[in-house]
Amino acid sequence: MYITIIGAGPVGCYAGYLLAKAGNKVEIFENHPQVGLPIQCTGILTSDFDEFKFPLDSFLVNTINNIEVYSPNKSVTIKQKDYIVCRKKFDNFFADKAKAAGAKIFVDHSFVRRENKDIIINDSKHNSKNKHNSENKHNSEKRLQPDIIIAADGPLSPAAKAFGLYHPGRKNYYGIQAVVEGNFDPQTIKTYFGNEICPGLFAWITPESSKTARVGLAALKNSRAYFDAFMKQQGFIVKEMQAGAIPLFNPQQQLQKDNCYVLGDAAGYVKATTLGGLIPGLKQAEILADCLINQKNYEQEIQPLKRKMRLHLRAQKLLMKFSDQDWDKLVSYVAQPRIQKLFEKYTRDNPIPLVAGILWREPRFFRFLTNWF
Ligand SMILES: Cc1cc2nc3c(=O)[nH]c(=O)nc-3n(C[C@H](O)[C@H](O)[C@H](O)COP(=O)(O)OP(=O)(O)OC[C@H]3O[C@@H](n4cnc5c(N)ncnc54)[C@H](O)[C@@H]3O)c2cc1C
Repeated sequence: MYITIIGAGPVGCYAGYLLAKAGNKVEIFENHPQVGLPIQCTGILTSDFDEFKFPLDSFLVNTINNIEVYSPNKSVTIKQKDYIVCRKKFDNFFADKAKAAGAKIFVDHSFVRRENKDIIINDSKHNSKNKHNSENKHNSEKRLQPDIIIAADGPLSPAAKAFGLYHPGRKNYYGIQAVVEGNFDPQTIKTYFGNEICPGLFAWITPESSKTARVGLAALKNSRAYFDAFMKQQGFIVKEMQAGAIPLFNPQQQLQKDNCYVLGDAAGYVKATTLGGLIPGLKQAEILADCLINQKNYEQEIQPLKRKMRLHLRAQKLLMKFSDQDWDKLVSYVAQPRIQKLFEKYTRDNPIPLVAGILWREPRFFRFLTNWF
């Protein structure tokens, strides 16, 4: 099969690697001049990343052992292993794997539109060399007719839009972060909850080392105002900011139409409670590649992952309604040793046994939650 993938992010490149390894002709088109830049991510991975069995050494920046959770008046520390990665190196790790398996990656190449069965890719280097020559400018466009198109072009996915696969009800968070200097416990991520800090989500301080940290937050609106207030409250000086859209999972999102599939952020496969999209996107890439290679039913195979995404979404909807007192109450519940142990046992990528365990062991917690449904 001839497969084109739009977007050389980690998810597109991982799908490209799996499909090329199985003997398909794979071409990946990336609109930026370099894979992995600009960085728009904190790079936190739960230890579920171990399941992929990738060597970490080429992109690992730091390993975390604790998450401190602060509500307006309470706090709890949860022991959890997380990895902090360099997104430039992480993305290039997957791009190199794809290339080694035989995929071709074209940087400076943007998907521009669809014309019936063709897709049109623009070579922007060619375009800028010939900007005064209208005939050559036209030549910068490649017309391709692949068997399969995979839209892995991020949260605003022009390819998903062109194929009618961008759900009209899609909501995007806007995340902002900065790398700051200070004194940090290098093994501890700090998270801050509360309506004045970051309604429905949290602000984070994620150490790269004892001297630098990635500090940020994401909100559905007014992210910049919340970010500025948080940085001021913490006394951090912002030198350089990174920002980007992060999709809210939408269970109505269609994943395939004609010969086009959406993947990763383009499909909105992001945990709605934490906005982590790397592990769900990589898992989705594995499922899609397996379905294309072994002719399995994608809609059926994606269901277990979709159930996890739905659970995160239900929790997000609940947390959006929380008052500061509710956040305090929740943190007090989590601080009970029995509940705390459960939070330490299951990662954020594995929410179903966590929720089931909590509801089973702590019916009072269940009653607290049902007040909100
Ligand atoms: C501030 C912030 C912090 C975050 N922190 C975390 C975190 O700690 N952990 C986590 O798991 N997730 C985090 N995320 C989310 C994470 O970044 C995404 O889920 C992840 O990047 C999705 O990977 P992807 O390959 O699907 O998409 P992307 O990484 O967005 O890659 C898509 C690629 O497609 C390219 N592209 C776009 N349009 C076109 C076009 N027309 N033609 C060709 N190429 C195109 C883009 O340039 C890009 O390279 C964060 C996001 C933000 C904004």
